[in-house]
Order: sequence, then C-alpha cells, then structure tokens
Amino acid sequence: MSIEIRQLRKAFGKTVVCDDLNLDIPSGELVALLGPSGSGKTTLLRIIAGLEVPDAGSVRFHGQDTTHTDVRERQVGFVFQHYALFGHMSIFENVAFGLRVRPKATRPSEAAIRKKVTELLKLVQLDWIADRYPHQLSGGQRQRIALARALAVEPKVLLLDEPFGALDAKVRKELRRWLRRLHDEVHVTSVFVTHDQEEAMEVADRVVVMNEGRIEQEGTPDQVYDHPASPFVLNFLGDVN
Ligand code: ADP
Repeated sequence: MSIEIRQLRKAFGKTVVCDDLNLDIPSGELVALLGPSGSGKTTLLRIIAGLEVPDAGSVRFHGQDTTHTDVRERQVGFVFQHYALFGHMSIFENVAFGLRVRPKATRPSEAAIRKKVTELLKLVQLDWIADRYPHQLSGGQRQRIALARALAVEPKVLLLDEPFGALDAKVRKELRRWLRRLHDEVHVTSVFVTHDQEEAMEVADRVVVMNEGRIEQEGTPDQVYDHPASPFVLNFLGDVN
C-alpha cells in the first residue's frame, strides 16, 4: 500500500507543525521520519494513522483519499514506545487480541487464530514464552511481542513511533535488526519515527529528514549521508559523521 501525502498543513495555535508537506511512500518500503524533537514527526505519523485531522491537504492510501477516514477503517498497525501489552493476558492472547475483537463476519476461526499467532511468535522467536505474561518479559522481548501483535491483523501500513526509545543501547541495536528482518519477511509499508540518526540509517530503505514541520531532505540512507542537502541536515547528521 503506497502512501501519498499532499500539501499537508497542521498547526497547534500559532505553532505550524506540518508546513505544506508532500511525501510519497512507495508500497512495501520501510521509511524513517528522522528529526530533532519538536520537528513534527509524531504529528505526521498521527495524521497518517487517522488519529489527528490535518487543517489542509490530503493523505491517500494507494490513490484513495483517506484524509477523513476513521482510524479503525484504515487497517494500520501501531507500535509505540509505551504501547503497553495487556498485563492480564498471556503473550499468546496479546498477539491474538486484534483478531479476536474483529466483527464475527470477518473473525478467523479459533484454529486459524492459533495458526497465525504461532507463526508470528515463531517469526519473533518467542513462541517458547507464549503462555507467559508481559511482566515476565524483558523490555526488548515485550517490543518484539508488540511487533507481532501489530502484524497479526495483517495491516496495510505499520506505524512505529520511537518503538525502541525506552530501551538501552544494546537492546535497541538488537531490535533494529529484528525490525529489519520482520520487514524483509512481510514487506508491509512501514513508517518509523526516530530522532536517532544511526537507527534511521541502519533500519530504513528511505530516510525523510524533518525540521520545523518541513521536509529538509529525503533519500536512501546513503544519499542523505553522502550528500546532505542543507546545513541543517549536515549538522543533524554530525553525530555520525
Ligand atoms: P516530534 O515528534 O518531532 O517530536 P511532534 O509532532 O510531537 O514532534 O510535535 C511538534 C510540535 O507540535 C511541538 O512543538 C509540540 O509541542 C506540538 N504539539 C504536538 N501535539 C500537540 C497538541 N496536541 N497540542 C498542542 N501542541 C502540540
């Protein structure tokens, strides 16, 4: 599912957070929105999700205008930094949740749910802890489960907002590899918000550098890294260079 964003504007009071944004995200790509805190990454992600309505402009999913489509109808999956798993449910039930709450007409059979959940738990190599509860898992394991849960409903678009932000450096590195592996496996169009340039460069097919509600540059990690388009980008990437 490709995403086309046209002339998107959003302000909170006098603060312009999305300033006439245009962006094309090709189907199946993993795109990082990269920029300092306050540059508008999360707001853009929330508008793509349907959790926030823009003041002007449009968001299209594969050519279809979804600017005002309800979040429940957009078929998006989420992984947030603090998108807690349900503490009273086993890991298996956490991953199954999105399938169980479907309307009866589209709900898979119990056998199909078991098959799907088992498949996903194997994919994140945590099938051996299916019967445990979230508090018995490490932070890194919990986010792997959060990824599996988001993918269970076969979303058309996967949105990740600083999903590894609360974890320590070593676990973050490990999870980047997990995300990349999962993406290579399922190829779902994914948008990943991060302020960590190293993370964006390592994980994404394409990097979109944001600054004060505008896109400073977009390109492959190599393009952005080798040919920063502005002093801002150069400066922002300075930590890695
Ligand atoms: P980022 O994800 O890059 O840190 P955000 O999209 O979260 O940026 O925020 C961009 C700006 O918009 C910030 O100045 C923030 O304070 C402001 N902002 C975000 N959401 C709201 C809101 N619901 N009400 C008022 N201001 C907001």
